[in-house]
Amino acid sequence: MNELWNKYEEYMFKISAYGLVLGTTSFDAHTVAPKGGSAYRNERMAFIEGELYSLITSDELYELLKALNADESLDEVHKKIVHWHLKDMERTRYLPKEFFVEYSKAVMDANVAWEDAKHRDDYQIFKPHLLKVIELTKKKLSYLPDGDKGYDALLDEYEPGMTMARYDEFFELIKEKLVPVIKAIKEKPQIDDSFNYLHYPAEQQAKLARVIMDYIGFDFNTGMISTTEHPFTHSLHKNDGRITTHYYENSLISSIFSVIHECGHANYNHSVRDDLAETYVFDNMSSGMHESQSRLFENYLGRSYHFWDNLFEPMKQIFPEQLKDVTQQQFVNAVNKVECSLVRTEADELTYPLHILVRYEMEKGIFDGSLDLERLDEIWDEKYQQYLGIKAEKASQGILQDVHWSDGSFGYFPTYALGSGYAAQFIKAMKKDLDIDECLANNQFSKIKDWLREHIHQYGGLYLPSEQIVIATGREFDPHEYTDYLIEKYSKLYNL
Ligand code: ZN
Repeated sequence: MNELWNKYEEYMFKISAYGLVLGTTSFDAHTVAPKGGSAYRNERMAFIEGELYSLITSDELYELLKALNADESLDEVHKKIVHWHLKDMERTRYLPKEFFVEYSKAVMDANVAWEDAKHRDDYQIFKPHLLKVIELTKKKLSYLPDGDKGYDALLDEYEPGMTMARYDEFFELIKEKLVPVIKAIKEKPQIDDSFNYLHYPAEQQAKLARVIMDYIGFDFNTGMISTTEHPFTHSLHKNDGRITTHYYENSLISSIFSVIHECGHANYNHSVRDDLAETYVFDNMSSGMHESQSRLFENYLGRSYHFWDNLFEPMKQIFPEQLKDVTQQQFVNAVNKVECSLVRTEADELTYPLHILVRYEMEKGIFDGSLDLERLDEIWDEKYQQYLGIKAEKASQGILQDVHWSDGSFGYFPTYALGSGYAAQFIKAMKKDLDIDECLANNQFSKIKDWLREHIHQYGGLYLPSEQIVIATGREFDPHEYTDYLIEKYSKLYNL
């Protein structure tokens, strides 16, 4: 490899060392670190963020990338790595360092306040932090070199190529196709899921999580699980993937599906091929692509009947009393029960995109200035009333339920719905090569993972999501495959 590339790799090594320190500290802060130390930690972490910022935006690296970009001797893969890195740098390097540090600190503080507010069920604790993060995000947009494109710029950050116009079209289809199905289901006899709300001790749930992760083939030599308020996945490296969950003792299925979801994320990162794993594209996947893999695990596999062929009996052994009268079919029906509920992460597949629509419309309004920022909590409730017909009694089940806005992740939410849509297309393509039910029934989850690795995971974020979808399925993304899948599945379940 040429000398420039060697220099670039040396530079990237330094960046990854800082990233490792910050990533580990951040994971520690979210999981085991005492809350009382957060002010001390956040100040120092923001300082390190600033140091890292200097490294990733330096003129030296910029010149190096530009030279590599002009280097005709690079092969296609290396060219792509340089292309993505340069694109990212051209956005980031226009932020003044002081601003970047201020923003990093504000987000960390907001995160601490959000968790406190959620525990105490008091939006007022979080509100000033949220307003500050919004203000700083707007300021961040104003620094962009190609002018302030508002919310479109944020959408593009999480899903390259997506805009409000395209998401509007996507959500119009969702509303048109799915709302009538949800209405029709309300008129039908409801599925009994009362067993789900018995007492399930956290310790036993952790045992079950382990059984499920073993079935999926989660490698505890290269991964681990911890607990947090809001479940997430953090991969420090392909061989250091950490997932978290939250055990609610009054719900069995909440943690089950968050564990399966996060395993989908972790598996994606773990399956990136070795020659890309320590490059810029390792975690350059779009959020929509990442959510497609977690939602594919969670819904398309985890909520299918045969996923439980090898897990239902072990689960019953862990909870013999609670599940004594429940059959596998009853369990699977219950985990697919359609219900307009308040909490996104607990939502069924069919109403799920409406939860996302609420957030998407709010984010649009926040950034085009049409929403009264003083009333965000009330607007949240109004939109839930409008789209799901229910209103939260507590802020912790309303505007405080999600971590994302405290992280400044505006533009992320719509990728959950989009990713669920991508997953429908991936599953359809996979079915041409594999009998998925048979793989699940025969305890061959690895065959499913092999298919995903070969067609998607190995590339990391080398390709645009639109390219990656064509590579894996041979077609461009068609959201009708998503709505068709949902309509077929739920028409059958509810005899529509
Ligand atoms: Zn996810």
